This record gives sequence, C-alpha cells and structure tokens, in this order.
Amino acid sequence: MQHVDGNALAGAFADLFGADLTGMLASCAECGARAPVAGLMVYRTAMGSVGRCGHCDAVLVVIAERSGRRLASLTGLRALEASQVQ
Ligand SMILES: [Zn+2]
Repeated sequence: MQHVDGNALAGAFADLFGADLTGMLASCAECGARAPVAGLMVYRTAMGSVGRCGHCDAVLVVIAERSGRRLASLTGLRALEASQVQ
C-alpha cells in the first residue's frame, strides 16, 4: 500500500484541534523516535487515515470518519512538542 506524508493529516487536525499540528514533533511511544508530524507515513483508506512512525512503523495516529463524524486516536504517541512556545 502506498503512503503519503503527514501533511495529509493537516486538514483533519485543523478540524479536530483547531490547529495544524504537522509542524510539531511527535514522539513514538514504541521506539521513542522524535520526528515532525509532517514526516509520518500516512496510509489512507475509505474509513480514514493511519499515521505510522517513520522509524519503527508503529501506528501513532488514527483518524477515522463515520456517520459524518471524525475521531482521532493518538495512543501511539508518547508526546507532541511545539518547537517554540510563545
Ligand atoms: Zn517508532
């Protein structure tokens, strides 16, 4: 299955969290790797999107859509970090 990068999640993050999270650093709960959300490997299906760690392939983010609602599971993330806090 072909993947795209984490920028594909920008619209879903904006809808769910009111912000574009793709510039933040994501820490993988499985391997501890830290990388920009934009660098996730995103696999899209008819039901939603899955964002996987670029280092160990663990599932970090699941965005699902059903019955006109969108939900996010972030259980594979240890942390999200903003590069600068203002
Ligand atoms: Zn990982």
